[in-house]
Amino acid sequence: MFNKKTIADIDLKGKKALVRVDFNVPIKDGKVSDDTRIQAAMPTIKYLLDQGAALILCSHLGRPKEGPDPQFSMKPVADHLSKLLGKPVAFAEDCIGPVAEKAAKALKPGDVLVLENTRFHKEETKNDEAMSKQLASLADIYVNDAFGSAHRAHSSTEGVAHILPAVAGFLMEKEIQYLGGAISNPKRPFIAILGGAKISDKIGVIRNLLTKADSVLIGGGMANTFFKAQGYPVGDSLVEDEALDTARELLQQSSGKLRLPVDVVIANSMEPNAEIKTISMGPVPDGWRILDVGPETVSAFAKVIAGAGTVVWNGPMGVFEDPRFAKGTFELAKSVAESKATSIIGGGDSVSAVNKAGLADKITHISTGGGASLEMLEGLALPGVAALLDK
Ligand code: AMP
Repeated sequence: MFNKKTIADIDLKGKKALVRVDFNVPIKDGKVSDDTRIQAAMPTIKYLLDQGAALILCSHLGRPKEGPDPQFSMKPVADHLSKLLGKPVAFAEDCIGPVAEKAAKALKPGDVLVLENTRFHKEETKNDEAMSKQLASLADIYVNDAFGSAHRAHSSTEGVAHILPAVAGFLMEKEIQYLGGAISNPKRPFIAILGGAKISDKIGVIRNLLTKADSVLIGGGMANTFFKAQGYPVGDSLVEDEALDTARELLQQSSGKLRLPVDVVIANSMEPNAEIKTISMGPVPDGWRILDVGPETVSAFAKVIAGAGTVVWNGPMGVFEDPRFAKGTFELAKSVAESKATSIIGGGDSVSAVNKAGLADKITHISTGGGASLEMLEGLALPGVAALLDK
């Protein structure tokens, strides 16, 4: 199924491995405030160490604009990793150049070095060859375990893989097996659930899923554009007028596979004193906006999910950050957790909804990569994976 070489396929003893991880974690008061992504890379890190490799870990963190910026430093990540591993972790204040070279040279088998943020060099996102070469010069082999960045062709995610022998880590392998498996060989019925703010971000995903899934359940702000395309006035709801033609075309193509909410929660503002009511789907009065799916939609979607073989979910059903409009998303999370289907959740907001609801351990696979998982659902090849050695 996964047709790329992994760290299990190569000799690691005494090798220096440059490992691209996704340590793009939230930092608060100089400390890592959520280490989910670091934990997700631990099986790869521990295996490499057990096999006698020395590790040079690199990642981006945040979106630094103009070169080095202390608020995006990887130093807190190195400190956190040291605690998790129970041993010292070295830190280099640059990911390339003399500082990185000296630190990498000093490594013995079993040692761990974390490099400073790769995006402190603007060349990184340009997939600059000179930067890729400098990164490659630090190590003997390259391991990509950064699924969350695999949809980007950058120096540390793609360029360097053309210079060093390049293989996947275990997290990368697992992510692609679950998401790729759901798309290419799903246990049926295969149900996709899509929500979130906009359809323009997910048009390619809807298009591809209409050819693969048995039903595509739509909620969240993106349903509004479909409602408007069907001719309903949607009041002050979030709508993308420029996507109306596409929405119409998708509805026509969908041969009944696309399912929209049958009732919605509307409010006359977002203020604490807003009036809120639930209506069957129909014209939304002026001055009102759709902010969640209603209970009939939740139970209709729940029925479909209960009979599913595979469920893939991306994007909330409403403005779930506000408890008044979170019910649709949380109820849906419950249905997904309760179903016997292989359940896969991709992407930030649905993951945080499942975590908040305390249901994460009832989900088969929670992806660490929002953008990357969407590109897989869209049927696109991920450049960071394509560049790895074939099995
Ligand atoms: P996305 O990043 O596209 O998955 O969108 C997530 C965001 O969509 C969340 O911040 C939600 O608050 C927002 N959202 C969901 N439903 C609606 C809605 N009906 N109106 C406006 N925003 C929404």
